[in-house]
Amino acid sequence: MKTTAEGEVVGLCRDLLRIDTTNTGDPRTTVGERAAAEYVAEKLAEVGVESKLLESAPKRANLIARIPGADRSRGALLVHGHLDVVPADASEWSVPPFAGEEKDGYLWGRGAVDMKDFDAMVLAVVREWKRVGYTPPRDIVLAYTADEEAGMEYGSQWLVTNHASEFEGCTEAIGEVGGYSYTVNDDLRLYLVQTAEKGLDWLRLHATGRPGHGSFIHDDNAVTALAEAVARVGRHRFPTIVTPTVRAFLEQVSDALEIELDPDQPELAVAKLGPIANVIGATLRNTANPTRLEAGYKDNVIPGRASATIDCRTLPGHADAFLRELRDVIGPDIEIEHMHQQSAVETAFDGDLVDAMGAALRAEDPGARTVPYLMSGGTDAKAFATLGIRCFGFAPLRLPPDLNFSALFHGIDERVPVEGLKFGVRVLDRLLRNS
Ligand SMILES: [Zn+2]
Repeated sequence: MKTTAEGEVVGLCRDLLRIDTTNTGDPRTTVGERAAAEYVAEKLAEVGVESKLLESAPKRANLIARIPGADRSRGALLVHGHLDVVPADASEWSVPPFAGEEKDGYLWGRGAVDMKDFDAMVLAVVREWKRVGYTPPRDIVLAYTADEEAGMEYGSQWLVTNHASEFEGCTEAIGEVGGYSYTVNDDLRLYLVQTAEKGLDWLRLHATGRPGHGSFIHDDNAVTALAEAVARVGRHRFPTIVTPTVRAFLEQVSDALEIELDPDQPELAVAKLGPIANVIGATLRNTANPTRLEAGYKDNVIPGRASATIDCRTLPGHADAFLRELRDVIGPDIEIEHMHQQSAVETAFDGDLVDAMGAALRAEDPGARTVPYLMSGGTDAKAFATLGIRCFGFAPLRLPPDLNFSALFHGIDERVPVEGLKFGVRVLDRLLRNS
């Protein structure tokens, strides 16, 4: 029987799920993405596509390949997916997390939706093209990255810093997280396309005071000062701000659902959205959540210094205003140290590529309607956007109406519907042929 992309995508995804690429965040215990990158390289080589493995550290391999298009003067399209996965505790799962088992219409395993499903779809489509001798309209650059799940230092960030020339000419990119369906009714499914990501700022607050004995009267206690500041930050509600992406999202969703959504009352509007409210709620404002506390070394000693970590997420274009507001909340006496920062990214939901996404989805699902959204977390798009590439989250999947998809990301019993994978291959093939 003739091999097709649709026919082999499940097998490719299963093979990838069986390669443990757990990224613990600690280089000493991270397995490394090398074996998965070698697998992808071998599957590409089988059909005559040459690729490069670029290692940022031992076993932390990234793969790059360029497929020449018919019109090489056009900007290239970057198609990217990460190969690492977050850890899985097998005792919590109903199947072994790295066995790639298929049952009940799903393919199960850590990485099934984040994001070896898309990795496999891309591989399946490219392999079919090469088997039939198809040339895409413009250059396509494939990037399979390491370390997306732990800060991108060994993956996309390292690639854009050390191998930017590999992305020369890339004007647009597709990757995670978007393109999946949210069922409104039998005739209408919204496909959320990510066009923006919040920025990230991990801050450490330091309070200093006079060290002393725990039995004395003491009016300059670093722990007290820090605790007060942390409590103020934790309780502070930053104002709602409707960014262009969120405004477009609300307008299009209200139109699609035929409900009144007032963009000037964003919280009321989002509460009407049911299951997708939790995806969108965090995109209405900047947030600052205290996550760690550190002070003292003995029960009866007042330390001279106390520290706390705050996980801040900022809306596109609002990082500076956020920091001024945060400084007011914290007060002048606490030192702020920036541990790790990534800028927000945002691109408009327009252009030929966006039109092609909608057309590709509608061809396979007449009830499809694309909607842009802002993501509260981060992906490799943050790194690629620094090269001036317009980044979209579009890894197409048609999902069963009752599946709680967002809970599967980093979740127990992560799994992808087999029919969804095949649907994704058909949509991706159409999109790439018409982009
Ligand atoms: Zn991911």
